[in-house]
Amino acid sequence: MNNMAVLREFKCKQCGYAVVASTTPYTVLLSGVDAQCYCGKCDKIVKVTAGENYQIDVTRLNLSCETCGTPVKVWTPDMGCPKCGGGMKMVESIIHF
Ligand SMILES: [Zn+2]
Ligand SMILES: [Zn+2]
Repeated sequence: MNNMAVLREFKCKQCGYAVVASTTPYTVLLSGVDAQCYCGKCDKIVKVTAGENYQIDVTRLNLSCETCGTPVKVWTPDMGCPKCGGGMKMVESIIHF
C-alpha cells in the first residue's frame, strides 16, 4: 500500500487562489488518518488528525482546525476553490532553464 500523499499545486481559474494540496481527502499514516481540510480562518489547507481507524469516512467527521479551533470540512481540489467556488486547475511544475 502506498501511504505517501502526492502534493500538487492547484490554482483557481477564477480568482487565482493557489494552494498546495493532495487530490485525496485524507492520508493514511501508520499513526492514523490525516484529513485534508480548508480552514477559512487560517486561510489555508490544514491537516487534521482524524483518528486511528483508517476505515472511517473522514467526510462525515466533525473536524476542527488544530491551529485555531475553527470547524473545518474535508476539502479536495475537485470541490472547487474555497474562496470563490471556481474550478481549480492543477499547475504543472515546469522548470525553465
Ligand atoms: Zn477562486
Ligand atoms: Zn485554522
